[in-house]
Amino acid sequence: MRIVTTTEELREAIRDSSANTVGFVPTMGYLHSGHTTLFDHARKQNDLVVASIFVNPTQFGPNEDFEVYPRDPEGDAAKCRAHGVRLLFMPSVAEVYPDGHATTVTVDHLTTELCGRFRPGHFAGVATVVAKLFCMVGSQRAYFGEKDFQQLAVIRRMARDLNIPTRVIGIPTIREDDGLARSSRNVYLSDEERAVALSLATALRATRAAHRAGERSASALCDLLAAELTRHPTVALQYAELADPESLKLLRGTTLEAGQGARAIIALQLGRTRLIDNAAIDHDDPSFLTTRLGA
Ligand code: AMP
Repeated sequence: MRIVTTTEELREAIRDSSANTVGFVPTMGYLHSGHTTLFDHARKQNDLVVASIFVNPTQFGPNEDFEVYPRDPEGDAAKCRAHGVRLLFMPSVAEVYPDGHATTVTVDHLTTELCGRFRPGHFAGVATVVAKLFCMVGSQRAYFGEKDFQQLAVIRRMARDLNIPTRVIGIPTIREDDGLARSSRNVYLSDEERAVALSLATALRATRAAHRAGERSASALCDLLAAELTRHPTVALQYAELADPESLKLLRGTTLEAGQGARAIIALQLGRTRLIDNAAIDHDDPSFLTTRLGA
């Protein structure tokens, strides 16, 4: 595996590899099995796997955790190597945003609700850096986790709207044995918070069960989701919604129809840690029901 830090080296290495198909996995590092499963998928479908590690300052708000975001470059490189990444791009902030950088990519509509309401500017930061990375790498495919469901929808739309010829592929969420979605930010959780954090998976399970039992009112399902999450006094709920999986239009006030597709999406603050999760409500989501991959 080769590690490169400039766009020029990156492009040269991809050209020299003479790979017919390139699969790209952008990350912010502090890698876990949620990330390595993306590498594994990329390896199965492409001649060359390229990963990037870049903690993108423009997607963090002024009071968010950019400065303290966990980092482990050596451990990350070893995990990339073990999962078939052949080229790892680790640019500096100045390489990605050189002096005079003046272009921002904004995606309308899909970014106004859900996390967009609580993290102003976040999705513009994400769309901008991913558009830039797509242009730098020029891969046929790129892999993203369903864990960040709104991000996946935003990136799909951005690539489509800008005619970027990279196919965006979504991969189901990897969870701990007890159901907690893996996240680099889980290291922030104390033991007590770790126990409360389970409520995200529990609430999603309860809502799926209510739907299976015949509840079709989206508002009632949202209320159930919220009630499960706010049982714990330490949880500051940000939102608990059902949304259309593609347009992310909120479904409160509607009656779910058979085969319509609905995603339950939640975000909360637990102490200093912000946690998000989501699940398909109206069809079996094997990644949610079974535990996959260990540490
Ligand atoms: P991040 O490093 O948090 O920016 O994540 C990089 C990529 O890994 C994103 O596409 C995430 O959605 C994905 N990812 C993070 N956690 C998980 C997980 N638990 N399961 C699947 N994908 C994940």
